[in-house]
Amino acid sequence: MSTIDNLPPLREVIARHDLRAKKQLGQNFLLDLNLTAKIARQAGDMSQCDVLEIGPGPGGLTRGLLAEGARHVLAIEKDARALPALAEIADRYPGRLTVIHGDALEIDPLAHLTPPIRIAANLPYNVGTELLIRWLTPPDWPPFWQSLTLMFQKEVAERIVAAPGSKAYGRLALLAQWRSDARIVMTLPPEAFVPAPKVHSAVVHLTALPAPRYPADPAILSRVTAAAFNQRRKMLRASLRGLHPQIESLLDQAQIPPTARAEEIDLERFCALARALQAARDAQ
Ligand code: SAM
Repeated sequence: MSTIDNLPPLREVIARHDLRAKKQLGQNFLLDLNLTAKIARQAGDMSQCDVLEIGPGPGGLTRGLLAEGARHVLAIEKDARALPALAEIADRYPGRLTVIHGDALEIDPLAHLTPPIRIAANLPYNVGTELLIRWLTPPDWPPFWQSLTLMFQKEVAERIVAAPGSKAYGRLALLAQWRSDARIVMTLPPEAFVPAPKVHSAVVHLTALPAPRYPADPAILSRVTAAAFNQRRKMLRASLRGLHPQIESLLDQAQIPPTARAEEIDLERFCALARALQAARDAQ
């Protein structure tokens, strides 16, 4: 029995339910329940929150979230083989775990969640970035979630928290940091997982800000950063030429040197450029 919840150890659960990891489902399981409880604690106080977990698998992180006091966990899992193991956890925590069998990219979880909502997941690598981008670009802000506590490949985690001037800095950093605080709170070696992936991993904790750090229209900001970073080695006056005939004057208004490259420009200046572009278009 494990010390955190008196349920069997995960190795035994995996053997009993024949949950051999499948690569195509991005399955790298966490089996150390002390570690999953530690990851769960990074999500903060969950006692008054519903927690959305994507990809619970055999339930290591799910058990961590419940043992650490989550009011209710909604877990969405694509692999039907994991459902009996998850049902055992639901029995241990009556009324606190709901499991949905399906693809997280296709299920709207909101119908099953009561605010306030936090999201915590050891994400399947194949869908992790896509889900993050969706959570960061809802139709309205603040979003439905208060915080995201997510495991990524370390290289992706570094792109989320990157600062200007670094190689990892790009659209993902700007998107994440425009309307949330993003920090790497843990790093994990490959051996923490079964099977061990080829790369290191990291847990990123993002807290939604009540409003964007700097005003800008989301669609225009997205267009500006896409054009800037799609040709990141070009000077901005060249990479952004297609956005407006007087792009040099707009760069000047935003206090961006026309010869600068995308990776030198911080979030505040990109937002200023998005506002200048919007004002120029509105004036036409
Ligand atoms: N949370 C478990 C842990 O920490 O040990 C498993 C993590 S494993 C990296 C990713 C999990 O996501 C697997 O259980 C996999 O079956 C599931 N998964 C993969 N694609 C999914 C999808 N589109 N929707 C829901 N679950 C998915």
